[in-house]
Amino acid sequence: MDLGATLCTRSKPSCLLCPLQRGCQAHLLGLQSRYPIPKPRKVLPQKSTLMPLLANRDGAILLYRRPASGLWGGLWSLPELLAGEELDGLALQHGLILGERQALPALTHTFSHFQLAIEPWLVHVEQASSAVAEGDWLWYNLATPPRLGLAAPVKKLLKRAADELNAGELS
Ligand code: SF4
Repeated sequence: MDLGATLCTRSKPSCLLCPLQRGCQAHLLGLQSRYPIPKPRKVLPQKSTLMPLLANRDGAILLYRRPASGLWGGLWSLPELLAGEELDGLALQHGLILGERQALPALTHTFSHFQLAIEPWLVHVEQASSAVAEGDWLWYNLATPPRLGLAAPVKKLLKRAADELNAGELS
């Protein structure tokens, strides 16, 4: 019999039915509800990234498809930067002229083996070359979103960006 799964459960031990009752120290001391002691929570390593939500004048956000293997393999995601200074390099790489930028509330996403602290920035794109959304890059239309596989936190951030852009239009 698997006592741990049947009689000696953590929340409700059935000591009266238990064949080990006579020798059980926890039962004798009236401490059965304290055992087994829960395993201490694993402290996950922390990583951080800056994710810019580059919004063009139509309110579409620039996404790219991640490589097929690895984290979020094959899903569409936001660019990831180590720091805000890398934003200008990204803009140069894609022929973007950037305007106003604004920090959105941070988001933490927990993977099985680490925690990712995401610093999202909403960045307005004043001008974009036509080549920017080719290959594994596209402008994701927030009003009529295409059906794409999106990483879970990216979905949340796109929603935040949409709310922010709509609020900006209304004010
Ligand atoms: S007697 Fe001891 S082993 Fe049996 S159910 Fe109670 S606490 Fe668990």
